[in-house]
Amino acid sequence: MPVAEKKTEAPKKFTPYEPAPGEEYMNEKQLEHFRQILLGWKQDLMEEVDRTVRHLQEDANNYADPADRATQEEGFSLELRTRDRERKLLKKINETIEKIDEDDYGFCEACGVEIGIRRLEARPTATLCVDCKTLAELKEKQLGG
Ligand SMILES: [Zn+2]
Repeated sequence: MPVAEKKTEAPKKFTPYEPAPGEEYMNEKQLEHFRQILLGWKQDLMEEVDRTVRHLQEDANNYADPADRATQEEGFSLELRTRDRERKLLKKINETIEKIDEDDYGFCEACGVEIGIRRLEARPTATLCVDCKTLAELKEKQLGG
């Protein structure tokens, strides 16, 4: 199954934000910067979802031979999983944009520290600082065995 581009990865095509000395963290300009990144990402993802749906429809029409149908169904479940991931990510992006609108963006949900511009540029939907994220992952690993 050819996957042309991974839109589920955060976009890289933006100019990294350079805050002026003493600039307030998450002021209007910074919030706008991240809003643009998230809106661009959302746009890309929605186009990708369209493509996945169209692909599913085309596949449904293209296979008449039962032997091909097994292959087709494998492709289906893969694409459905991809779609599911895209949908979850879109939800997350929308929630993040809401946080920006509410001026509640860029701070760790667990401990309240600034997540940081560079980290947010790499992961615009991050809600935890590096420390809390590491801790959460450790816990997850222990619970998951
Ligand atoms: Zn934290």
